[in-house]
Amino acid sequence: MNFLDSEKLETILLKNGFEKVDNPEDADVLIVNSCSVRKHAEDRAFGYLNSLKFLKNRGKIFCLYGCTANIYGSQIIEKYPFIDVVCGPNKIRESPKILKEALNGEKIVCVGESDNPFIEDLINVGGKISASISITKGCNNFCSYCVVPFGRGRLMSRSPQSIIDEIKRLVDKGIKEIILLGQNVNEYGKDIGTDFVSLLEKIHQIDGILRIRFLTSHPKDVPEKLILSFRDLPKLCKHFHLPLQSGSDRILKLMNRKYTVSHYLGIVEKVREVCPDITITSDIIVGFPTESEKDFLQTYKIVENVKFDELFVFKYSPRPKTSASKLPDDVGKEEKERRHRLIYNLQQKITEQINKNYIGKIVEVLVEKESYKKKGYFIGKTHNKKTVLFRKEGNVKIGDIVNVEILNSSIHFLSGRICVK
Ligand code: SF4
Repeated sequence: MNFLDSEKLETILLKNGFEKVDNPEDADVLIVNSCSVRKHAEDRAFGYLNSLKFLKNRGKIFCLYGCTANIYGSQIIEKYPFIDVVCGPNKIRESPKILKEALNGEKIVCVGESDNPFIEDLINVGGKISASISITKGCNNFCSYCVVPFGRGRLMSRSPQSIIDEIKRLVDKGIKEIILLGQNVNEYGKDIGTDFVSLLEKIHQIDGILRIRFLTSHPKDVPEKLILSFRDLPKLCKHFHLPLQSGSDRILKLMNRKYTVSHYLGIVEKVREVCPDITITSDIIVGFPTESEKDFLQTYKIVENVKFDELFVFKYSPRPKTSASKLPDDVGKEEKERRHRLIYNLQQKITEQINKNYIGKIVEVLVEKESYKKKGYFIGKTHNKKTVLFRKEGNVKIGDIVNVEILNSSIHFLSGRICVK
């Protein structure tokens, strides 16, 4: 979501007469687009701006964008007086005006909601074959650890027509794969009288789109018809990112996740029944307040049993305004690290084994780009999001779909050679 916001900001500024420079010393305006989901990310944003503070006496304008801007607003300028502009993710559209005012010496705080936070048709496609597009912004769920509802505001769905029109324009520019983004795509349309699966069905009919992906799904909102879509919509990629967060019902309750472990496992079972070759990935938070060894071992066991293809493991850190931040952050730093390491290592072994099982198989790969590291090689993805490296052969070009026989595997990718069916 943040990468997409940065792309939109870049495009809107370029369209309005700004120019991009590679070196901060050559810039008149320095912008950091921050993420505040974890404290570490927030600290890095401020740390980076601080590291450039020595340029302030050369008249440069310092700007903090992103969720962090929405959360702290004018407090940012009070604490860091060298920052001139604080702009939240819903206000990107106003950037040309804001930055021109800041260049005239004004301090500006532009945060909060917007009637129209979606920016259409701004993506600089630049030879890519895959593009992300926001279908919702914000979230109403208030998971107790999560700062997103405060950083990005409440749920707002973009109209189906506007999404479809943008996808058609992207297809005209050579895009073959669309990634639909939302904090919880399953809630798409609740506020405008439609639903996510209806949107998927409409997008599926667009000529020229080869693949559709989406991120992220909340386990409390997975309807049967979404699960069946993996079977019934051939362009819908067989990858399901379904954040578990914890394998302990007690912790899930404290997290305000509104599902139980058995509900989660029921979804995994149904999805695998409907679509056996689907890739399931997930997120886990370790060290949530009051997480005991017993709670942690329950999570460990679930990871061991479910065998996710990939797992993103995070150490809990309290975030401002969230209800969990009022609980004692009582799992020590070293213990969080130990739990993180244990789950991470377990997942590495699982991923390695799953990927090994691809050796000898023929997979269909959408060619995405040339490998920077290995000259003469392409990188692409399978339908179920496995990254595949293979040697360039014949007339194969970026955007083609080819069959690749897998000869080798590692934790991060598969490698093989192009073959004829
Ligand atoms: S669903 Fe929960 S974790 Fe996801 S963005 Fe909303 S509040 Fe945050």
